[in-house]
Amino acid sequence: MFITEIFKSIQGEGTRAGLPCVFVRLTGCNLRCTWCDTAYAFHGGTRMSVAEVMARVDELTGRKAETSGSQAPVPLVELTGGEPLLQEEVYPLAEKLIAEGYTVMIETSGERFTGRLPREVIKIVDVKCPDSGEADTFEMRNLAELDAKDEVKFVLMTRRDYEFARDFTAKHGLVARVKQVLFSPVFDDPAGKWKGLEPRKVVEWILADGLPVRLGLQLHKFVWDPATKGV
Ligand code: SF4
Repeated sequence: MFITEIFKSIQGEGTRAGLPCVFVRLTGCNLRCTWCDTAYAFHGGTRMSVAEVMARVDELTGRKAETSGSQAPVPLVELTGGEPLLQEEVYPLAEKLIAEGYTVMIETSGERFTGRLPREVIKIVDVKCPDSGEADTFEMRNLAELDAKDEVKFVLMTRRDYEFARDFTAKHGLVARVKQVLFSPVFDDPAGKWKGLEPRKVVEWILADGLPVRLGLQLHKFVWDPATKGV
């Protein structure tokens, strides 16, 4: 499998935001969202076997004796990208991580079918909004695969995106299906390629409509420079 990076940081989004986590970023994506902040993962990467990825994860999480010291091991691993479901080896990797006792999350664009993942994997599934430039890419069979440990995320750049997210959430009863529905405003691009959406506006809209959804802010962009990779 091709891997862009494996690193330890804090979880930046969702209901586990702020928790220590090891991230495995798989290379490649078949979408091109206008506001994508991980375009560096589209190409290249290092070819690694599942065993090599596992060894690096064990090292970073502190499972390996030489690096663990007195620290408690990090139990949380996230598979991300790019789009992690494009590579077949993601399935044996997820199975191995689960078998080793890790809590495994996957961040996916929602365009690929998620039903082949082990049931234990916590899915954070995007639904692309109109101004992502990738509207109508959601694989509708994924709705039936969602359960009470999963999260659905809408990344919002405009009021139009917000209205789409609000209406999709209501139409498909998402709040009852999953642990959390996240509305995440896009941040300004550090290089000025796109303009984000003010979080305050999203809060005002959520409150005005009385939506039982959670505002999602990417915590790591407050901790580190938003242009920094591998955090
Ligand atoms: S799906 Fe994710 S990685 Fe792919 S272009 Fe969109 S934001 Fe970037």
